[in-house]
Amino acid sequence: MDIRAIESRHTSGVYPKRDLVLVRGEGVYVWDEAGRRYLDATGGQGVALLGHNPLAVQAALREQMGRLMICPEIFYNDRRAQLLEALQDILPGSQSWRIFLCNSGAEAVEAAIKFARWRTGRAEIIAARRAFHGRTMGALSATWNPAYRQPFEPLVPGFRHIPFNDIGALEAAIGPQTAAVILEPVQGEGGVWPADPTFLQAARELCDRYGAALIFDEVQTGFGRTGRWFAAEHYGVLPDLIAMGKGMAGGFPIGAVAFLAEWGPLPAGAHGSTFGGNPMACAAALAVIETLRRERLIEGAAQRGAWFQERLRQIRSPMVREIRGIGLMIGVALRGRATPILRRMMEDGVLALPAGPDVVRFLPPLIIEPEHLEQIAAALERALIEAPLPVSRMTEGGEG
Ligand SMILES: *Cc1c(COP(=O)(O)O)cnc(C)c1O
Repeated sequence: MDIRAIESRHTSGVYPKRDLVLVRGEGVYVWDEAGRRYLDATGGQGVALLGHNPLAVQAALREQMGRLMICPEIFYNDRRAQLLEALQDILPGSQSWRIFLCNSGAEAVEAAIKFARWRTGRAEIIAARRAFHGRTMGALSATWNPAYRQPFEPLVPGFRHIPFNDIGALEAAIGPQTAAVILEPVQGEGGVWPADPTFLQAARELCDRYGAALIFDEVQTGFGRTGRWFAAEHYGVLPDLIAMGKGMAGGFPIGAVAFLAEWGPLPAGAHGSTFGGNPMACAAALAVIETLRRERLIEGAAQRGAWFQERLRQIRSPMVREIRGIGLMIGVALRGRATPILRRMMEDGVLALPAGPDVVRFLPPLIIEPEHLEQIAAALERALIEAPLPVSRMTEGGEG
């Protein structure tokens, strides 16, 4: 069976593909059809917080599958109730939250935008340049990359983009017409750019001044990725809404948006999703939260991430412009294109992601051990040494 040919013939074509057929995974590793093993520093786009096929998630899904797979939110459910309580414990701040469960990051962003408009009765949303919030029409309207947006215009009206980390620009854009400011505390897809603490603090103050909602998109940064449950904790800034997704259920599709409980419940019928809050996803997410806690993986992510960044800084190559990131969300900004480096690393048995044209991004499982991180760093080092020297410096910015 020629898997590549069959997929290529029938698929939509929207994904740039790597020349690799994956058929099995376990822990930090995946295997191709020929039985070759790869260290997975893509973590399935940052989803595999507990690695591939984590036993705790397998067990939770198997148990739930045998009891109840389908339960839309028009009914109550034991697993869902447990997950909502568990989320209260891990969400930042001391106040409580209300939570809408859905099935992906983009859906969580869509819900956050709708809830902010409902709450404020206003339409305008301010997002940041280089922001990535997903590909559905509302989330895409908040996403910045013109290549993702332009073919699908007109998008949802009312969105504007200001430079990230630019307090003056935010101050100039925000006003009594602003429904929400949406920000990734660490921009992921746009090139791994952590926010300046003063920027997020100013965003909080400005939202308070004008009665706008502050939305943090923690789809990529949430659930321990940055060494805290949520990246907001690094900044001591509490948003009004938090969008979640990616690793939340350890590989099972899920998304969620939390909003401050003091808002009170939304009107019944205001929003919904057939699969939202389904017991399978809830069981998987509960297993993820329990495992992250029991195995102290979030503290581990902070320590290992710091060690890994130190190790990456020892790489002496004129190709490296900057190392950025927090915890196990790390970008290596290059003077040159990321793709050839990623291809060379793959030949060496290490999978990593791009973030824009010139950033190599690592989103490894939080269970990763120091020797694996050493292997990733060594593969990057080899790829950079072999890379042809850049002819000229690429233009600023990592957006892709
Ligand atoms: C991946 C991502 C999304 C979109 O999530 P999907 O599950 O792909 O819809 C939104 N925001 C951020 C910050 C992301 O990293």
